[in-house]
Amino acid sequence: MSRYWSKLVHSLTPYVPGEQPKINNLIKLNTNENPYGPGPKVIDALQKEAADTLRLYPDPNSDSLKQAIAEIHGLNINQVFVGNGSDEVLAHVFNALLKHDMPILFPDITYSFYPVYCGLYEIEFEEVPLTDSFEINVEDYFKENGGIIFPNPNAPTGRLLDLNEIERLLQQNSNSVVVIDEAYIDFGGKSAVSLVKLYPHLLVTHTLSKGRSLAGLRVGYAVGHPDLIDALHRVKDSFNSYPLDRFAQAGAIAALQDQVHFEENCHRVIKTRESLVVSLEKMGFEVLPSGANFIFTTHSKYDAEFLAGKLREHLIIIRHFKKPLRIAQYLRITIGTNEECQSLINALNSIL
Ligand SMILES: *Cc1c(COP(=O)(O)O)cnc(C)c1O
Repeated sequence: MSRYWSKLVHSLTPYVPGEQPKINNLIKLNTNENPYGPGPKVIDALQKEAADTLRLYPDPNSDSLKQAIAEIHGLNINQVFVGNGSDEVLAHVFNALLKHDMPILFPDITYSFYPVYCGLYEIEFEEVPLTDSFEINVEDYFKENGGIIFPNPNAPTGRLLDLNEIERLLQQNSNSVVVIDEAYIDFGGKSAVSLVKLYPHLLVTHTLSKGRSLAGLRVGYAVGHPDLIDALHRVKDSFNSYPLDRFAQAGAIAALQDQVHFEENCHRVIKTRESLVVSLEKMGFEVLPSGANFIFTTHSKYDAEFLAGKLREHLIIIRHFKKPLRIAQYLRITIGTNEECQSLINALNSIL
């Protein structure tokens, strides 16, 4: 029936998200969700929304949510944009700010949704190779471009780029927008949001899916100069007036106002990450330094795909990317609870 498809649809190669298994007893270390749930204040706020008011549309502009985000970062509400997950925010970013005559730049190993958005919006891109140690060298981006985007920490490597390096890039590159995707910044990194007031061409995106334990609610946001935010609103209001429903807005506000629960959970994840790295290294794994809630690791004696398959037999799922070839021997493992990580170590002990 594909003769009914548009030409664009024929050309698309959609993103494939990590598996959400229908089986219950799996240990799920494959999609970087937070192992700890949202706090009771979030659950209360959601329960309050389950009411007669659901017959009414939500606030199309999510003003209260934007206010809560602005307060956390010491910004104005006109410097904040919200969307249905940061994936939707990113889609609008590509359409509104990264679609120009010159190709945009992003790392050769990075979030694999970026080339997908380029396909959807017909944006040319150039992949800039990471260094041999899987790091971003900002000098590789010192050239003419239609825009620059990368996650910090990068995905799926977990490697964190120093804020001074991001500032150096912003100073060298002022003719196009620089987007820093901070999906994982809550796990120990320094946020580039502090640079937003200084650089009108900087846009920083965040998600509530990882650090704030709300992947199921679908809330993400971007902060930047009001002119950049205005562009995103123009695209959003040409696409969907109500991307965030009443639950998403209320739950996100409650989550942002419970800083204690959030910081405790992130801290627990960081501690587990540190002990998991020690255990894996003892077993002969090489682990890249991680600033995220996952690690990227390889073993010199065991094939990565083999290990991923064996772990699955032990009911543990992790992520293995066959491509690009450069990372085919690496495994990306989400940091779970201490118990889940202990099960992982036990399973690996029996496999190796
Ligand atoms: C998870 C992730 C996102 C998307 O997060 P959502 O808000 O759940 O859509 C964006 N960028 C990177 C690098 C991610 O890993």
